[in-house]
Amino acid sequence: MNYDIIIIGAGIVGCSIARELSSYNGSVVVLEKENDVSVGTTKANSGIAHAGFDAKVGTLKAKFNVLGNKMMPSLSNDLDFPFKQNGAIVLGFEEESLEILKDLLNRGIVSGVERLKIISKDEILKLEPNVNPNVKYGLLAPTSGIVSPYEMAIAYVENASSNGVRFDFNSEVIRIERDKNEYVVTTASNKTYVGKVIINCAGVYSDKIHSLASNKKSPFTVISRKGEYCLLDKMYGDMASHTLFQTPSKLGKGVLVTPTTHGNLLVGPNAQDEVDNANVDTTIEGLKEIWDKASLTMPNLPKRGVITQFAGLRSHLKESDDFIIGFDNELIGFYDVAGIESPGLTAAPAIAKHVSKEVATYLNLGINLHFNPIRKAIPQISALPNEVREKLIKENPLYGHIICRCEVVSEGEIVEAIHRVPGAKDLDGIKRRTRAGMGRCQMGFCTPKIMEILARELHEDIDEITKNGHHSYMVEKR
Ligand SMILES: Cc1cc2nc3c(=O)[nH]c(=O)nc-3n(C[C@H](O)[C@H](O)[C@H](O)COP(=O)(O)OP(=O)(O)OC[C@H]3O[C@@H](n4cnc5c(N)ncnc54)[C@H](O)[C@@H]3O)c2cc1C
Repeated sequence: MNYDIIIIGAGIVGCSIARELSSYNGSVVVLEKENDVSVGTTKANSGIAHAGFDAKVGTLKAKFNVLGNKMMPSLSNDLDFPFKQNGAIVLGFEEESLEILKDLLNRGIVSGVERLKIISKDEILKLEPNVNPNVKYGLLAPTSGIVSPYEMAIAYVENASSNGVRFDFNSEVIRIERDKNEYVVTTASNKTYVGKVIINCAGVYSDKIHSLASNKKSPFTVISRKGEYCLLDKMYGDMASHTLFQTPSKLGKGVLVTPTTHGNLLVGPNAQDEVDNANVDTTIEGLKEIWDKASLTMPNLPKRGVITQFAGLRSHLKESDDFIIGFDNELIGFYDVAGIESPGLTAAPAIAKHVSKEVATYLNLGINLHFNPIRKAIPQISALPNEVREKLIKENPLYGHIICRCEVVSEGEIVEAIHRVPGAKDLDGIKRRTRAGMGRCQMGFCTPKIMEILARELHEDIDEITKNGHHSYMVEKR
């Protein structure tokens, strides 16, 4: 199969680039080793659309963070994914915090962040009554927001797909060779793809992908830096309305407490280097660390409100503290988008515009006059006004059959999630697209029903249904 562009990796970086490239006339395929989009770092992070005051002035991180943050409101409208500009406050608990906050303020102003302001203890407590009354100062960043990272990636992919991009899942790239002016990419299932340009968006594996293409050690090394989280029940979601950071101090970098786009409260992350790129297990020590640190922000955080824990891996570069974005100097037509740690989710929309323009110019691609930038999300029965809900149920009674009681998700939503392109193939895919199983009971009640729907719609036996692909079967094979 021949393509103009082969993108490796379907995280937020690969998906956003794929969508932007679909606005040009070129053939694009995305190869992803897992069975779905957004199963790497993109599914497990803080979900903050950072304002952009934190990154060092003049870096790619600062540039693309500020640009990406500004794109978020209109992008979330076009692609219909959850985003809210809730604002953030960096809290200082010591007298010396004021100088650090002023530094962040100045850094933000130089990088182009608007409406930043230092606020007093009284102002903080008025905005956020649950914050520790020992707080002294805060930096208010009204342009900071919260976003659902996996829904953002899914929205990008559905739109890219409807604009002609091909997504091949279960396609782990294991070999990259140069043949004349093209790359020949081979996957673990022995399929080959030929492309003029390769865009390396493989997250924590991007150094390995670079080595495959160059046949020597990658010029950059990715260190997987784990961050752990606790997610609290929606009952506690309104304990904070802003995203609450802590000023870095002699006690360390601190953790955040934030509402999520779906009304939960999120606490974390810590930072722990990992040798295993696939290890996203949480640890007792890590969870204790984040809980203790978060208690400085909010002393009355309810432990019994925790409904789940998770961890994600940052792609931290050993050699530099900035993103790597650009064509490689030695490998013709090989483009790296590597070291995309935080604020990578925020920066992705702006990175994608930049990368697609560079690649389209390199390949001399024209504009796709049929490009449609609009994508609509699956209707969420729980969020619809009564009249709209009733009309939908009349048209399709499956929308009146509630499967997930905690999040109020109907069979109609689940069926649609399976049949979208690319659709859900397992329980986690359903969860990320509809929220079925994301609630208090964490799939305790709805699992068997969702398995039956998956089996019916995918024409599979029930013992073929997995939690998240590979061999994560839910019932023993007969
Ligand atoms: C703890 C934590 C908190 C964060 N918080 C924020 C935040 O609040 N705001 C923010 O802006 N950013 C945040 N980030 C950063 C953000 O999550 C990342 O920048 C972003 O998700 C990176 O996306 P990606 O597409 O590069 O990587 P990934 O999502 O990991 O995607 C890479 C994909 O490549 C695939 N792949 C790898 N090897 C191969 C291969 N050989 N063949 C085929 N496919 C392959 C993987 O399976 C994966 O799906 C955070 C990150 C972490 C870990």
